[in-house]
Amino acid sequence: MSHRILLVEDERGLVRTLTDCLTGEGYLVGTAMDGETGLQRAREESFDILILDVMLPRKNGFDLLRDLRQQGVTTPAIMLTARGQIVDKILGLKLGADDYLTKPFDMGELLARLEAILRRVASGETTPPETYVFGDVRIDFRRAEVTRGSEPVELAAREYQLLRYFIEHREIVLSRNRLLDEVWGYDAMPVTRTVDVHVGLLRQKLEPNSRQPIYFLTVHGLGYRFVG
Ligand code: CA
Repeated sequence: MSHRILLVEDERGLVRTLTDCLTGEGYLVGTAMDGETGLQRAREESFDILILDVMLPRKNGFDLLRDLRQQGVTTPAIMLTARGQIVDKILGLKLGADDYLTKPFDMGELLARLEAILRRVASGETTPPETYVFGDVRIDFRRAEVTRGSEPVELAAREYQLLRYFIEHREIVLSRNRLLDEVWGYDAMPVTRTVDVHVGLLRQKLEPNSRQPIYFLTVHGLGYRFVG
C-alpha cells in the first residue's frame, strides 16, 4: 500500500518538483499551500508523514505543528527550514518534529529521511519518543523538560539538542565533527572544542560524578559515545 504524504509548502515550483518526484517514488501526495489549509487537511485526513515548510502564509509550520500536537495528532513531520535557521531547528525539535531538511536540499536526502521515519514507525518505535530515562535523569521530549530525581535541570537549547542527539544515537561512537554538523549545523564555526565544552556541561548536569562519567563516555581519538 502506498504511503500518504501531506506536503505543506507555498513555493509553487517546489510543490510541483516534490510532488512529481514523490509520486514517481510511489507515494500518494496531498498538498496545501498555506498553514491553515495544511492544518485542516492534516487533522481531517489520514497521512503517514507531513512535510512542513516553516515559512508559510496564514500559519507558519511551527504553529501548525504545535496546534496538531495539542490536538493529539501524532503524524510524523519533517520540517523544511531555510538555510542556517538553527534557532528554528531547536524550536521545531521542542514542538515534536521528527526531522529537518535545510533548503535547498537534495531529493535523495529527502527520500532517505522519509524512508527512515517510515521504517521507525513500521518497527513500532514512537517517533519521537515521548520520554527517555537513564539513571535518575528523565527527559520529556514533548515538553522539552529534563528532570533529575524530582529536580528540574536547566539545559540551554544547544545542550538539550546535543542530549537528544546522543539519545537518538546511543551506543554509537560520534565524532566531534559529526556532532558539530548535526547539532550545530554546517555553517557553525568548525571548532571541535565547542563540542567538548557542551559534553562537559551535560556531564556536570546529568552525571553522578562528572569527573568519572558513566553515560557520556570519551572514546579516545574518535569522539563520544552515550551509553545511558
Ligand atoms: Ca515558504
